[in-house]
Amino acid sequence: MKAFRKNSLNPEHPATRGTTVSPDIFFQTRESANCYFERLPKIVEDYMNEINKLTGRNYGLFDYYGAPDAESIVVAMGSVSDTIKDTVDYLNSQGRKVGAINVHLYRPFSASHFLAAVPKTVKKIAVLDRTKEPGGMGEPLYQDVCTVYYNEGIPMTIVGGRYGLSSKDTTPAQIIAVFDNLEKDEPKHNFTIGIIDDVYHTSLPVKDEVSILPKSIVSCKFWGLGSDGTVGANKNSTKIIGENTDMYAQAYFVYDSKKSGGLTQSHLRFGKDPIRAPYLVNSADFVAVHNPSYVDKYDLVKDLKPGGIFLLNFAGGIDELNAALPASMKKALAQKNAQLYVIDAISIAKELGLGGRINTILQAAFFKLIDIIPLDLAIKEMKDAIHKTYYAKKGQKVVEMNWASIDRGINDLKKIEIPAEWADLEVVETERTDVPDFIRDVVIPMNRQEGDNLPVSTFLKYNLFDGTWHAGTTKYEKRGAAVDVPEWQIDKCIQCNQCAFVCPHAAIRPVLVDEEESKKAPAGFETKKAVGKGLEKYSYRIQVSPLDCTGCGSCAQVCPAKEKALIMKPLATQLDQAENWTFSVDVVSIKKDAFSDQTVKASQFAQPLFEFSGACAGCGETPYIKLATQLFGERMYITNASGCSTAYGGSTPSTPYTVNKCGHGPSWAMSLFEDNAEYAFGFLLGHEAIQKQLIQKAERLVELNVVKEQAARYVEEFDNSDTSKAVSLALLEALEKYAPKNDEEKEIKDFIIQNREFLSKKSFWAFGGDGWAYDIGYGGLDHVLASGKNINMLVLDTEVYSNTGGQSSKATSTGAIAKFSAAGKKVKKKDLGLMAISYGYVYVAQVAMGYDQAQTLKAFREAEAYPGPSLIIAYCPCIEHGIKAGMAKSQEEMKKAVESGYWHLYRYNPLLKAEGKNPFILDSKEPTADLKEFLRGENRYASLELTFPERAEELLEKAVRDAKERYETYKKLAQG
Ligand code: SF4
Ligand code: SF4
Ligand code: SF4
Ligand code: MG
Repeated sequence: MKAFRKNSLNPEHPATRGTTVSPDIFFQTRESANCYFERLPKIVEDYMNEINKLTGRNYGLFDYYGAPDAESIVVAMGSVSDTIKDTVDYLNSQGRKVGAINVHLYRPFSASHFLAAVPKTVKKIAVLDRTKEPGGMGEPLYQDVCTVYYNEGIPMTIVGGRYGLSSKDTTPAQIIAVFDNLEKDEPKHNFTIGIIDDVYHTSLPVKDEVSILPKSIVSCKFWGLGSDGTVGANKNSTKIIGENTDMYAQAYFVYDSKKSGGLTQSHLRFGKDPIRAPYLVNSADFVAVHNPSYVDKYDLVKDLKPGGIFLLNFAGGIDELNAALPASMKKALAQKNAQLYVIDAISIAKELGLGGRINTILQAAFFKLIDIIPLDLAIKEMKDAIHKTYYAKKGQKVVEMNWASIDRGINDLKKIEIPAEWADLEVVETERTDVPDFIRDVVIPMNRQEGDNLPVSTFLKYNLFDGTWHAGTTKYEKRGAAVDVPEWQIDKCIQCNQCAFVCPHAAIRPVLVDEEESKKAPAGFETKKAVGKGLEKYSYRIQVSPLDCTGCGSCAQVCPAKEKALIMKPLATQLDQAENWTFSVDVVSIKKDAFSDQTVKASQFAQPLFEFSGACAGCGETPYIKLATQLFGERMYITNASGCSTAYGGSTPSTPYTVNKCGHGPSWAMSLFEDNAEYAFGFLLGHEAIQKQLIQKAERLVELNVVKEQAARYVEEFDNSDTSKAVSLALLEALEKYAPKNDEEKEIKDFIIQNREFLSKKSFWAFGGDGWAYDIGYGGLDHVLASGKNINMLVLDTEVYSNTGGQSSKATSTGAIAKFSAAGKKVKKKDLGLMAISYGYVYVAQVAMGYDQAQTLKAFREAEAYPGPSLIIAYCPCIEHGIKAGMAKSQEEMKKAVESGYWHLYRYNPLLKAEGKNPFILDSKEPTADLKEFLRGENRYASLELTFPERAEELLEKAVRDAKERYETYKKLAQG
């Protein structure tokens, strides 16, 4: 270590490092370093021995485990080795002679150490690699092991296989399959475990799962709803058991990709013996289901051991259960002889004033039922934890409410005697015929948590092998995640469409119905006469999709009707609207003549081509995306920097970007943080290259006097957003009818028809958050803006890395608390807009739709129309802000942000310069509200006052100064 440090660069013993190495010497320098690699295994071994002396462990470069006279062994590295060890014990106890090598130093691979570790009796080796190198003869570890035996000239049967890609579970039954494969005369090479490969037949046959864990270990599985507190409670339970007993504890949590309100699964194990089980609980002594709606969605009993405890959060007793549980679940519970308990945690939480936080109630019930530590001790520990969490922040009253929930969780538990006849129920499997095959075969099983069972052939059948997924799958999810959904008050509605404009999930839409359609409408489909020029012939209705709505309340909040025309009502009371919704989207057509990009109202008559994403309820980002797709969706290329907007924008199996009735819609691709703008630029260049050729061909058609009229119009108008599609179609139709007279004409016709999708004008967009645009992808964004090309960037500015738990970015403002600036950010927010404005030829807009919807619309319209690079920076309230008024008020929060001078609206349009005007227009009024008051309304600022009051004072003062300075700069720019 000392020598290493001494070798560092220092002006007191300078050297030059990182030279441009010329080709004459590069090769030799690489080879000259060999001795260092050769020495390394020995050095590592010596240090391991030192550590072994201190820890009493026996940890070597390659550790052997199993029968000293084993004939078959498995070689692997990493966490799977624990599963292998337990499986080796299990098989040896059954009279087999097997073992395993656990690789601790992979490279440099020491052949001598490896050979020394392998028993001389071994005849067959299976090497497991957790990677796939397509096209290779075998995976890397396999190849190294083969090389060892080849070099030594030792005959050995060696096969390789893959396991565990992308955290796929590897279970004891799969490891047994690997050993069984070795038993064969000709074991399969290049095999897989953990999947069903019915195409290339690489997968090994796997028998039923065996429980090889020591008897003392208790396994538990919990099904929770994201943000209901289940995961937190389970972490706490693990801590309580781990700290108060001499038991070992293991906890593993699985989440889906919904930003909130998704599924969480907690896998917990406790026991007196060490737990060597790095795989999910699949044989549970205790299963808890914290959300009653799951009974219809998932196979919840599958993992329960016979005679195990099953706890369901449920209101009612046996009669209600009889009515609510599906036959398959009842049958499984009875057949497994389950001990069934219910508790009505939702009512208890409501009664105690805890809202949706059911976690402590169910945690108490868990401790009561599982009987793993004395109940009194568990209660004391839970109560202490509650005191620690809430007392300082929320006071004694909240502490007591939570304490009360513990007592209720224990006392309100009800044991249900399972009727014997449940075991004989008939279970009828019905195949869904109302959805496309892809949804039935892929999306529905995945949403039921059964994606692991989908065979390889399914992916080939639907062309999913290259990362492509079908658009528009979210509309089949019908999550029913809302507690309350809006109910439309027909007589109060003033037909402004603002509700649709702000809805983050596109779950509320204005519907225009013509006379013919009216006749087919369902009974409850009430409409009123549409108001507005040109709309007289239609009747109007606001339609909510109760099962797609997340219940955020944004729509009802913004409704400007004198008496609100939207009232939030319990979901159950609104389910009859589902039929009206289906009619609205399936039967009623989109009225193109009603759409215009000039007004907020008219913009909402367009179909959103982004719908029902997995974003949080009330998310500030998604309404902007939805609007963009309404304006340009059918001709949009979108690249999206990873972050929230990719988590909710495209996580299998949910794709919210969808298509219109012609099958056109945004083509969307995720990119890394660091090259998203460049990725969009690539799409543009690719499209441009082909379109340029098409234009040349069309020009030649004019010269040749072939479909001249259509070709000429195309050349004239291909770049006109309004007419490009029509002139492209006209050219195509004319060409299709035209019989070429010679080779040249034929070649041109073929080329144009072949490349038809590149004819019409497209719209190129890069989407991403502030982490992308301000930080990691800034260099690329800047580069692409500087290109001068007609490309658009939408920055969804949450002022923090929202998707990864709230790390500070350069968009974070002074005084805000975020990860990496826990004591409040010291320096001010970067002014990305001003930086882009400095080019002079970039269209730049800052928007906040909650303050001015029309300005947002105008900015999107102008940015897209501007024949050069455009940048829109959109203010997006986010759950990470801790808005005290709640996410239902996210639109209101934007308004406050602007009124207090925290955020400003402007547009910088270089085209105005040509007209002799000032290109910078400040769209927001002089701030009038108190900035500090605004800041105190959000926990990201307010909590600093609790933790570091003095520093908070100083930083908030600075925040006010920074905001003023920023406003003054804009004001000066606006004055020209
Ligand atoms: Fe959309 Fe939220 Fe209104 Fe539901 S409550 S329709 S998700 S704005
Ligand atoms: Fe009607 Fe209110 Fe929606 Fe406006 S915001 S269209 S008034 S329901
Ligand atoms: Fe949720 Fe914020 Fe991400 Fe929106 S941006 S999905 S509110 S975390
Ligand atoms: Mg962000």
